[in-house]
Amino acid sequence: TQEESKNFLSKALSKTFSSIKNVVPQKKEKISFDEIEELLIESDVEYEIIEKAMNGLPDMITRKQLRHRLVMLFEHAPEVNLQNTKPFVRLIIGVNGAGKTTTIAKLANNLKRNGQSVILGAGDTFRAAAIEQLSTWAEKLNIPIIKTKQGHDASAVAFDTISAAISRNIDNVIIDTAGRLQTQTNLNNELKKIVKVCSKALPDAPHQKLMILDGTQGNSAIAQAKAFNEIVGIDGIIVTKLDGTAKGGALFSISNQLELPIFYIGIGEKENDLIEFSPDNFVDSLLD
Ligand code: GDP
Repeated sequence: TQEESKNFLSKALSKTFSSIKNVVPQKKEKISFDEIEELLIESDVEYEIIEKAMNGLPDMITRKQLRHRLVMLFEHAPEVNLQNTKPFVRLIIGVNGAGKTTTIAKLANNLKRNGQSVILGAGDTFRAAAIEQLSTWAEKLNIPIIKTKQGHDASAVAFDTISAAISRNIDNVIIDTAGRLQTQTNLNNELKKIVKVCSKALPDAPHQKLMILDGTQGNSAIAQAKAFNEIVGIDGIIVTKLDGTAKGGALFSISNQLELPIFYIGIGEKENDLIEFSPDNFVDSLLD
């Protein structure tokens, strides 16, 4: 239920929220501009975003007004219609260390828990360790995986994974990609090629290009995402490592600066540590 998922979010991001609770007196109906500013700065929201949220509001504002303004900061791209597309192909993009492999495992596990079938494509053919790590997860979660040797063509892996999903009647395809820094022309070309080859395997694929961002990295994560967005166009964000940090306010900056929706947040290293992100629940937890 809505209440359950709100409680879950509050608990998962307790460090972020508890630092804020010290700032704003509980149950106060009207909050002053200064208090709001402190609340947002405390949760690591950038000043520019605070100004945008508060623009045109009176000195004392109600919680309801504030809530509305904060939720608005997250409202961006249209929801993708997940229905009637089978297999649904997700391409996972992000720099090494952001939590790409772990997030793929969590996402696959979430889908499986919801009764859907999944196949993984080990498309980070640049690193042998990435292929091994994803294979280990696949084995643990009992999910099929398509892979080749290190150094082989990543787009061939993408093509084979989608083809396998079609022939085996699998609901979801999740394809990993290499995560070298985006300044390398090779990676740019490789990503573009993977996207093109996906659409050869299945028209309209990939249906979602998801960017994995380390939530503790602040502005540098945003800069990375901007660069990837220019190369292939990102549809949505998954922010990782938000457990144990007081920096949950970075979610405002990430969504607002990139003008992209946040689909999930990562709150730990285990397969169940991925939760759907809801702006309403997040802002409610912040203001409760
Ligand atoms: P990749 O290089 O992008 O594939 O990153 P990995 O998936 O290997 O993750 C890098 C490290 O971050 C690993 O130690 C993961 O266990 C850890 N990690 C990933 N997501 C989370 C998260 O949401 N919370 C925490 N605490 N650790 C995470």
